[in-house]
Amino acid sequence: MLADRSIAPQNRTLKGVAVAPGLAVGPVHIVRAGLGEVPTWFVREDEVPLEIGRLAAALNSVAEVLSTQEARVAREAGAKDAAILSVHRAILEDPSALRDVERTIRDTRVNAEAAVQKLIESLEHTLGSLDGNNVRGYAADVADPWRRVLDMLLHRDREEVHKSAERVVLAATELTPQVVTYLPRERILAVVCEKGGRFSHGAVLARSLGLPCVIGVPNLLGRLEQHMPVAVDGGQGAITLRPSEEDLARFGEEQRARRARVDAVRGFLHQPAQMACGRRFLVQANVESLLDLETFDVAHTDGIGLLRTEFLYMERTQFPSEEEQYRLYRRVLEHMGDQPVTLRTLDIGGDKPLPYFKTPPEHNPALGWRGLRISLQWTDLLRVQLCALLRASVHGDLRILLPMVGTLEQIDEARSVFDGVRAQLVEQGYGVAADVPVGVMIEVPSLLFCLPQVMERVDFVSVGTNDLVQYMLAVDRDNAWVASLYEPMQPPVLAALEAVALAARAAGKPCSVCGDIASDPVFALLLSGLGFDGVSVAPQFLGELKFALRSASGDQARTFARDARALGTAKDVRALMAERRRALHAALVTPATPV
Ligand code: PEP
Ligand code: MG
Repeated sequence: MLADRSIAPQNRTLKGVAVAPGLAVGPVHIVRAGLGEVPTWFVREDEVPLEIGRLAAALNSVAEVLSTQEARVAREAGAKDAAILSVHRAILEDPSALRDVERTIRDTRVNAEAAVQKLIESLEHTLGSLDGNNVRGYAADVADPWRRVLDMLLHRDREEVHKSAERVVLAATELTPQVVTYLPRERILAVVCEKGGRFSHGAVLARSLGLPCVIGVPNLLGRLEQHMPVAVDGGQGAITLRPSEEDLARFGEEQRARRARVDAVRGFLHQPAQMACGRRFLVQANVESLLDLETFDVAHTDGIGLLRTEFLYMERTQFPSEEEQYRLYRRVLEHMGDQPVTLRTLDIGGDKPLPYFKTPPEHNPALGWRGLRISLQWTDLLRVQLCALLRASVHGDLRILLPMVGTLEQIDEARSVFDGVRAQLVEQGYGVAADVPVGVMIEVPSLLFCLPQVMERVDFVSVGTNDLVQYMLAVDRDNAWVASLYEPMQPPVLAALEAVALAARAAGKPCSVCGDIASDPVFALLLSGLGFDGVSVAPQFLGELKFALRSASGDQARTFARDARALGTAKDVRALMAERRRALHAALVTPATPV
């Protein structure tokens, strides 16, 4: 809860929301490159000349670019058209604007980006508020060259950090997928942000990559400095600034204890998730990128339950061609051998934009142009992806999953595109697997009220609790201000989950849960008791889940689920889960303890 966040007495430990477990110590790198907002942070007095130097370097670079462009435009279009570029150069040479920016850096001790942004805002404000369209247009022109300087500062930073090999704790305003993928995984120690949601896509990605992550610390960037050493405890949601020797010793102790727990569950990794009564529960892996494939042993999973293909698109600068996609999907299928691989069609939009696919600005993106809605409107996108998927289907055990389905018509439409693509491929002589099951994500609540009809139309279902909770409770999964209302333990959510499992069982269709809450071992136990066949989770949670599931019989899990369903409030459900969790942890340390 936002109100609960506090700062420890020495003001060095900032409390936020725990997003992904793990401990890390290292220097901060504030992400400021091209992520929409212009981050602001304080600079120390001795860093002021450095910031002014960065500003001067960016100004020089922009002046050079403008000169080159001016010469080119003069050549290609004539001197008249090139004149605007020389005006832009002159604007940047105006000593009073430069003095203003330098003064802002010096007096308010902020970074160069923030100071340039302040100048841009003041130019827009002063000239934009005067009467007349021409004056307002002029305001845009005057601010324009300074926007280039801002871009240059952001861009340069990006280049510099990419040149280094240092491992860093990334700090940013908002936890987005772009922040989490800002540097190669091996260079990131942890991620800390001011804003974001525990079940946002950025959070999902951080967990999947095994990155300790803390969010919800107001004015975090104001308290950090570039390269400042910090200690991050992702499990506790704590960030310690400039940790002392004593802090580091305590941290080392906690790191050792955590490693011992991780080692204890590792023993269960190679075992199947077979419950004490012999019932087999499927534990599959969620995969975000090809890198994830290297993080787990295929033999430790029952396949991939969710591969979010959008992240493959996000790592690029343009849409991948059919051939590129085919090669990629084939690689995943071959890597997994006989194991099933569930590939989800593109789920972009909302907080997962593609840099090269501009979608219109939306007031309410979570309810907007997202997932299958885009795929059915731009059917070429869907066709290309389905072609690649179906061609790859002969190389493994492929299942196709459709995201953000809200109506039966959407399922029918998608199936008809699927049938068309399959027929066309066969006609063209491509090999296609005889049976490629098509399933839907249950994540839009409308489907809960037509479950039998959904089951008739699909081969399997997978519940996306990350979105289902957001839409059922009308709580934005990305918004830290309502994070305390985002609660998968709410009894109506449990009722919805039970309804899905019952309908799937009645129709004889496999059902699983791939939302992040399934990685909570106690919740997974509850899901098995509700009648689900399996879960799909980030690979790092596989061992713990197997341990939890092996510790109970099917009957015990059903009783546990019945007890949870009988409770009327999330608070009571949480208390029941906490009790079970304590028993589970005790059993992990002393295996003879009853669970
Ligand atoms: C979900 O909504 O639970 C889900 C698995 O999909 P995503 O997090 O990608 O929206
Ligand atoms: Mg979803």
